[in-house]
Amino acid sequence: MCRIVYLDNAATTPVKKEVLESMLPFFGDFYGNPSSSYNFAKRIKKKVDFARGQVAELINSTAEEIYFTSGGTEADNWAIKAVAEALAAKGKHIITTKIEHHAVLNVMEWLEKAGYEVTYLDVGKNGIVDEVEVEKAIRPDTILISIMAANNEIGTIQPIDRIGKMARKNGIIFHTDAVQAFGHIPIDVKKMKIDLLSASGHKINGPKGIGILYVKRGLQIGPFMHGGAQEGGKRGGTYNVPGIVGIGTAAQLAKELVGNNKVKDLRDYFLNRLLSEIDKSALNGDSQNRLPNNINIRFEGVDTESLLVMLDQYGICASVGSACTTGQIEPSHVLMALGLSKEQAHNSLRLTISDFTSKEDVDYAVDKIKECVSRLRC
Ligand code: PLP
Repeated sequence: MCRIVYLDNAATTPVKKEVLESMLPFFGDFYGNPSSSYNFAKRIKKKVDFARGQVAELINSTAEEIYFTSGGTEADNWAIKAVAEALAAKGKHIITTKIEHHAVLNVMEWLEKAGYEVTYLDVGKNGIVDEVEVEKAIRPDTILISIMAANNEIGTIQPIDRIGKMARKNGIIFHTDAVQAFGHIPIDVKKMKIDLLSASGHKINGPKGIGILYVKRGLQIGPFMHGGAQEGGKRGGTYNVPGIVGIGTAAQLAKELVGNNKVKDLRDYFLNRLLSEIDKSALNGDSQNRLPNNINIRFEGVDTESLLVMLDQYGICASVGSACTTGQIEPSHVLMALGLSKEQAHNSLRLTISDFTSKEDVDYAVDKIKECVSRLRC
């Protein structure tokens, strides 16, 4: 196989060897249903609860506050719809931002059709929402603030600690979509006063099809799906044991990466080379408050769709933005929210590295990007 340089870790990540090894027994000898009553099953249930604890540790919650879901999309849907339903008698106003993932935005749109009112806050040119604007948007009928911890396209980190404290002070429930932030930057649900948090396994070198919703103890929300008694009756369905064990191991491994500068240093080297060696290039989003693995860069006059096709021929995997919107002709709603023109949005490329990315990968990618950009500018 020709060389593959994978620079699309915001779309998904490879499963780490240790994660896969921890999962394999649960496809084989330990196949029992954790909800069954015999000892063979009870041992498997113990593993499920151990994984719950591993996930909880990463965000400083208790294990009992973690509910397993099928991924980030389900967790976002559950959090937002359940709060909307539980508090409909109190009010029908929700605050969010214009740069959320579609797993949030499309739920909001659905709620609007059901009679809810949603305020979509602007972000600054740097891609960060101002918590003062969040507070100003609060009304007597506001029931929920849902703001992502870090953006999936431009990597900007939102001030969720200040928003959480402000929401708590105002008695409003705060949900954060932390799918991109979980396991990449420190999160402390207690200190940050977060009531609900969504995360996903496949963004932290865990398996696909598994995620979590953190629900603060005492917060009364209904189930997302109606079914069996699993997860305290809040999320029925036979446990995805290999997935759960996998996200637990991945969360434990991610703990070592959070706060470690290895990925950030390589990203800074990559970014500096691109900005200094390619004319008329500019970074999208804040240069400091951004995920350690994210670069979103624009090259004036270069159509990124064509650039991606050329890079693909060199085995370089990158993207224009969210994998969920690939194939859309419309420019990214996130880049438009920064105040970029449609053309600038179409000139933008997302490169997301990981601790698997080497300096050689970065040097190779810079050389090929330089070559392709200059060919496209001819
Ligand atoms: N929220 C954000 C910010 C994301 O980046 C993603 C996936 O890219 C999701 C939600 C959806 O997560 P999942 O793929 O686990 O459903």
